[in-house]
Amino acid sequence: MYFNSSEKEKIIIIGGNVSGLAAASQARRNTPNAEIIVLESGEYISYGTCALPYFISGIVDDFNKLFTYSPEFFEKERNIRILLNNKVVGLNPQKREIFIQTRGSNELKNIGYDKMVICSGSSPVNLQVSGLDAKNSFYLRNVGDTLSIKNYINKNNPKKASVIGGGSIGILATEALSKIGIKVTIIEKGQSIFNDFENEISSILYKKVKLDGTEILNNSSLDAVLKDDNNIIRSISIKNEGRLDNISTDLVMLCTGANANTDFVEGTSIELGKNKAIKTSLKLQTAYSNIFAAGDCCCVKNMVTGKYDFIPTANNAAKMGRIAGENVTGGNSVFPGSVGTKVDKAFDFEIARTGISFKDAIELQFNAVKITENYNSHAKAMPGAATITVTLIVDFNSRKILGVQMIGKEGVAKRIDTFAAAITANMTIDDVYMLDLSYSPGTSTVWDPVNKICGRAILELAKKRF
Ligand SMILES: Cc1cc2nc3c(=O)[nH]c(=O)nc-3n(C[C@H](O)[C@H](O)[C@H](O)COP(=O)(O)OP(=O)(O)OC[C@H]3O[C@@H](n4cnc5c(N)ncnc54)[C@H](O)[C@@H]3O)c2cc1C
Repeated sequence: MYFNSSEKEKIIIIGGNVSGLAAASQARRNTPNAEIIVLESGEYISYGTCALPYFISGIVDDFNKLFTYSPEFFEKERNIRILLNNKVVGLNPQKREIFIQTRGSNELKNIGYDKMVICSGSSPVNLQVSGLDAKNSFYLRNVGDTLSIKNYINKNNPKKASVIGGGSIGILATEALSKIGIKVTIIEKGQSIFNDFENEISSILYKKVKLDGTEILNNSSLDAVLKDDNNIIRSISIKNEGRLDNISTDLVMLCTGANANTDFVEGTSIELGKNKAIKTSLKLQTAYSNIFAAGDCCCVKNMVTGKYDFIPTANNAAKMGRIAGENVTGGNSVFPGSVGTKVDKAFDFEIARTGISFKDAIELQFNAVKITENYNSHAKAMPGAATITVTLIVDFNSRKILGVQMIGKEGVAKRIDTFAAAITANMTIDDVYMLDLSYSPGTSTVWDPVNKICGRAILELAKKRF
């Protein structure tokens, strides 16, 4: 406990999901007497954003399963006030006050605070295309969006959908819609879907998604939508290298990336970086000593590059929330940063990455070498062994691993986590080649793919001269 128990400070937390509730809970553990208030702009808190696509497809079969804790739990068990439907719209750090707008009211209210943690997350990027306010145009970011999608589908039985953007969210949305019988066309601006992955990895997913019946239009962007008199999009116009094509559609999903929810800090000294995310110290403190920030609304230190980066994952948000809650109550903890580890499970594949890409490695002037190989997920003699494709990026000079990406039907996530640990610990390919990893025929091969790709890299580096 850091506060003197006679003190009663007011701590405001902005945002009631992963990082915000972690921060509020940690602050409460440290300070039994502080007044802790969570301001949440939406109707829900403590929801599993990552499970939302599975609610659309029906794999998550009960709306209540999307939630971990209720507002009542926080009020009763943790003495944390939850104010739903209250959006923070402005901030005056000099006067230590914030401005909030309650849903359904135009009135601005102000509340004073002693300390604050900003955990406002991120929101989908708004495309500059008019007409996207249509009844059948959706984002997939929160519970409200998901309910709107589900209700629209139940009432209107759409047959064809256009998913704009072929990154993680676009692919998860495509899979969810395909599973309930909707034919999807993905419109992707880049050269391929999952274009933050190496082509050796993303091309495998690309083939599988196509084989499953999804159409993918690469190098294409949404140019315009055509609506009927009922504000329903009937077709969209796609631009591909100067050519315009029209495709008919019953539903549009907008999945073109996210920016941090930080508009309300404008005009303060809080500094923003990539994707409008807040720059903090490693203690997650902003330019103001009494304001901390955590989660998707924040930049994190990329542990490979040493630079501020935007790596919006739930795993980062939960840890940052806890550290910010610790430090806002007088603690001295450090969030060391992130190596950018993420995994998606879609179209029967696990597709995962950690560390940096080959392109980033070259731009950062590493003597980067990229090696790709296929391995068995476990011993061939046992049923169900599947191919895992591994791409490893290594620095020739230091022999340190800079990044790893994988795709396969099993055993990908656990192996990417091994590499996440190796990169964090600054291990070389020689260290990881001899790493003592577990083996049994049903789970691995005697030389695990993690060891093997490093062995292969050792041979490749021996052949090269820079
Ligand atoms: C479809 C989908 C699937 C995902 N799957 C994964 C996955 O498998 N693995 C993974 O690691 N990550 C996944 N993510 C990302 C993950 O959900 C986020 O990294 C995580 O939710 C971030 O937590 P957070 O608390 O920082 O922000 P959020 O969860 O976004 O919470 C922020 C909260 O703040 C509220 N808020 C925003 N602005 C204001 C304001 N001005 N005033 C008051 N309240 C405000 C919002 O309503 C929201 O409830 C997924 C994201 C999506 C959209």
